[in-house]
Amino acid sequence: MFAILHTHGPAECPAINEQKLSQFADTISDKSAETNSVKVLNRFVDTNCTGKLTGHLFGAPIHHAVFIVESDTKENVQKFLNKVPCEIVSIRPLEGPWVNRS
Ligand SMILES: [Zn+2]
Repeated sequence: MFAILHTHGPAECPAINEQKLSQFADTISDKSAETNSVKVLNRFVDTNCTGKLTGHLFGAPIHHAVFIVESDTKENVQKFLNKVPCEIVSIRPLEGPWVNRS
C-alpha cells in the first residue's frame, strides 16, 4: 500500500481548467490505475480544490490531495502518476498488514 501526497498552487489547480481537470481525472481513474497494475483505494482532495462545487475560494496558497493505492511495486505507482499535470510531493510505502475500518 502507498500514500501519494500531491500539492499544487491555485494557478496550477486542475479544477479551474477544463482540459487539466479532464486530464487529471483520467490520470487518477480506476481504468488508468488498472492499466498500471495499481488499485486506488481512496482519493482525498481538500476543499480549496473543489471551489466550483463548494463555493470555497481557489486563493489558498497550497491545495492538497492524498491518494491511497495498492500495488506490488513503487514503479507501478510512479508509472500510474506519470501524466499527472501537477507536482507529486511523495509516494510513501505503507508497511502492512492493514485492516480497512471504513
Ligand atoms: Zn486545486
